[in-house]
Amino acid sequence: MPESDSEKLKLIGGRPCLDFMNTVDAHEPEPSGERLIGYRELVAWNLHARLLTRGSAARLAEAGRAAPQHGDRVLRRALRLREALYRLFLAAIEKKDARRGDLVTLNSSLSQALAHLALVPTPDGLVLDWPSDDLPLERVLWPVARSAADLLASPEDVARLRHCAGDDCDWLFLDQSRNRTRRWCDMKDCGNRAKVRRFYAQHRSGRKN
Ligand SMILES: [Zn+2]
Repeated sequence: MPESDSEKLKLIGGRPCLDFMNTVDAHEPEPSGERLIGYRELVAWNLHARLLTRGSAARLAEAGRAAPQHGDRVLRRALRLREALYRLFLAAIEKKDARRGDLVTLNSSLSQALAHLALVPTPDGLVLDWPSDDLPLERVLWPVARSAADLLASPEDVARLRHCAGDDCDWLFLDQSRNRTRRWCDMKDCGNRAKVRRFYAQHRSGRKN
């Protein structure tokens, strides 16, 4: 498949559902910096995040090309799921109640994902996974829905869930640092911008004195 923007994204969330959140720069009031601009990009991101094999990704991309309206529907569903998850994660961080509608959105993708899970033989024994011959276009939503449900049902993970402290950044991540002090999605991006801003603020106030 040709390279798309969604394939270059940093995977810094610590969970597939968080990396999925980070396919936009900001979520509110409207998603900005959208990378998932088509079904093809959604498949490419799944491959990039190692949620699909190369062979399955190629077959899904081809199936999406053959049924563009179905592909568009799955893309719209993916974006709806992503924004519902963002609000659910934010509510979890702020210890607020989850919105019912957002739970319904997640549960609908979750029940489909779980209905297709099966024991699959591998060289290391049986694993619980989605069989590679079961590839409806919706397959790209399942690992995200399962990962989000696992995270939200884990008090340990919820306690480590963070929103980047960067001004224009809505990226989410699991703080897996020992002291739980990680503030930025990426020290090289948002962390560095904050450092530069602090430097100029000090420089300006220095000039006034
Ligand atoms: Zn950030």
